[in-house]
Amino acid sequence: MNKKPLPEGLHRDTLAVRTGLPASQWGENSEALYLTSGFVQPDSETMAHRFANPQEGYTYGRTSNPTVTSFELRLAAMEGTEAAIATSTGMAAILLLGMGVLRAGDHVICSRSVFGSTLNLFAKEFGKFGVESTFVSQVDLKEWKAAVKPNTKLLFAETPTNPLTDVCDIAALADIAHTAGALLAVDNCFCSPALQRPVESGADFIIHSGTKYLDGQGRVMAGAICGPSKWIVDTFAPIVRTAGMTLAPFNAWVVLKGLETLGIRMQAQCANALQIARFLESHPKVGRVYYPGLESHPQHALAMKQQSGLGGAVVSFDVKGGDPATLRRNAFTVIDSSEVMSIATNLGDTKSIITHPATTSHGRLTEEQRQAAGIGQGLIRLAVGLEHPSDIQADLERGLSKL
Ligand SMILES: *Cc1c(COP(=O)(O)O)cnc(C)c1O
Repeated sequence: MNKKPLPEGLHRDTLAVRTGLPASQWGENSEALYLTSGFVQPDSETMAHRFANPQEGYTYGRTSNPTVTSFELRLAAMEGTEAAIATSTGMAAILLLGMGVLRAGDHVICSRSVFGSTLNLFAKEFGKFGVESTFVSQVDLKEWKAAVKPNTKLLFAETPTNPLTDVCDIAALADIAHTAGALLAVDNCFCSPALQRPVESGADFIIHSGTKYLDGQGRVMAGAICGPSKWIVDTFAPIVRTAGMTLAPFNAWVVLKGLETLGIRMQAQCANALQIARFLESHPKVGRVYYPGLESHPQHALAMKQQSGLGGAVVSFDVKGGDPATLRRNAFTVIDSSEVMSIATNLGDTKSIITHPATTSHGRLTEEQRQAAGIGQGLIRLAVGLEHPSDIQADLERGLSKL
């Protein structure tokens, strides 16, 4: 049963709930989960046509699936891009981006503060295939400009960064990329389209780890690239069909439904994060607090402009201590004293998560590399969820009061 087509000019919150393929002949109101690997064809002629023109009908699950299509349509509508293509994980989306955009001999410029696996993918894995990468400061535009070469094909940014929440200027990076004849990709995992829409600042591609806020309840892995239809249909879709970094229909269904509540979750989690960041900033046992929503954040004004006036839901802070061993002991005391938050490495969940970056996400770096990156032994990262913020505050006070 086909619903009426949606009118033009709907708000993003409406698109987040309503965009997708039409309902089946049964008229289900919640989008169906098409848990099937193959699709039956009416006759050989149609089958031949759909194999040659995959966007005109479903054939096999590696190529596409209606539940996955609904997720892609909805995410693209929320990001304001023409199209999107789903992948099995966020890293698979960045792999797909590289496979589609880069050739041997091309050059990539990437912030050195991006997600660790992204750094490895560009430096180590793409390096094997003759792609060269330069890593530059997250915030110093001069470094990005100076890194441009005649063979620069792609600029890759992520904002705010994990765990120190440094914010880069997407519009300025889009200018540098386009002046150089290159493309800009932005990993929008930390803000999601509820806060930040990089395409409006000139980004060409938006990368998502659906595993984080899009799912929002820590259940499944997923990823996506959002961008122009031409790139999605002509370049990325054939690679997914060939290489198989396909999103499973069940996972697509979970993130599709997650998108419906993304806006209100982000609003609530950002408000909780701001309250906790202010509490930490005024705490005598806490050194620096890293949160774009605080006036003390070095890129506060840019963040407010770029992120719909909200700081996101990741807050990091340094406990006070002295030498690295004491700092680590103090950080562990705060983490281990928590009775509500989860000690885990994910983020974007409704459950607040507390982690020690120096021994987990950044544990493989040397102490000097960590110092250079600003990740001290006293640093703690919070991915704030939907619990009452006063309970999280009390959870932190349990440990802080012991220092
Ligand atoms: C988690 C994460 C990724 C990778 O996503 P997966 O779904 O874990 O593969 C990429 N970028 C950022 C910023 C992330 O936080």
